[in-house]
Amino acid sequence: MIKVSVVGAKGRMGSHVVEAVNAAPDMELALALDAGDDLTAITPANTDVVVEFTVPSASLNNVLTLIGQSVDVVVGTTGWTPDKLAQVRGVMSAQQSVFIAPNFAISAVLADYFARVAAPYFESAEVIEMHHPDKVDAPSGTAIHTAQGIAASRKAAGLGAMPDATQTDGGSRGQVVDGVHVHAVRLRGLNAHEEVLFGNAGEQLVLRADSFDRTSFMPGVLLAVRKVETGEYPGLTVGLDNFLDL
Ligand code: NAP
Repeated sequence: MIKVSVVGAKGRMGSHVVEAVNAAPDMELALALDAGDDLTAITPANTDVVVEFTVPSASLNNVLTLIGQSVDVVVGTTGWTPDKLAQVRGVMSAQQSVFIAPNFAISAVLADYFARVAAPYFESAEVIEMHHPDKVDAPSGTAIHTAQGIAASRKAAGLGAMPDATQTDGGSRGQVVDGVHVHAVRLRGLNAHEEVLFGNAGEQLVLRADSFDRTSFMPGVLLAVRKVETGEYPGLTVGLDNFLDL
């Protein structure tokens, strides 16, 4: 049995993780901690892997504390910058594993991957992300990542700029990320959705990923726990695509 502790266990994501760990046949819940709890209660004696879903302002300190406790960590909290990632790398021992996934939804990770595969074959590509109106950032980090991947694939294939005769734009063409237009919709009733549109003369390909609720993230979280626990991924790994054999 993999002993899993959850930090942020009372939060929306953390409480789903607690349920998913309790339901997993190969895992047992060790400690479920939240704001105000002492993370040094987590030790290799009681925990194999910690899952951390808290808030961006707390996550780095939590991860640094957990590294100090010599346990492996799976992180879902957003807001990781290159500087924060460097701080994590700087304090890790050679055998330790820290895994950070900006998006644990397998549908979203695959759509992102397929977009990179499709990108060289189309003259035009645009990204539309759609979320609930309580989301504070736009466009989503996943949509930016998808656009960057499309741009990198197009560049590697020697493709130039996309056709676009727009001369007046009051903002309706969206944010341009490495030459790829990204549009953000905020609508009550939605959760997290992304469409990638590819076009050639006379044909279109649409990739669409829908996360209808938070349960969509749990298979990815459990996969990450199992992969990290093997000890085969020492160091800092970012992105669930690393665990999907793509
Ligand atoms: P949430 O409902 O606000 O939960 C966060 C929990 O962390 C709360 O219970 C909070 O307690 C607790 N917390 C705050 N500071 C803490 C600390 N220093 N130590 C331990 N616990 C602390 O948020 P959420 O919706 O679960 O989202 C959590 C994070 O996951 C966000 O960054 C979100 O963007 C991200 N997320 C990632 C994915 C992905 O696929 N990677 C998917 C969805 C969400 P208090 O309320 O008492 O402060």
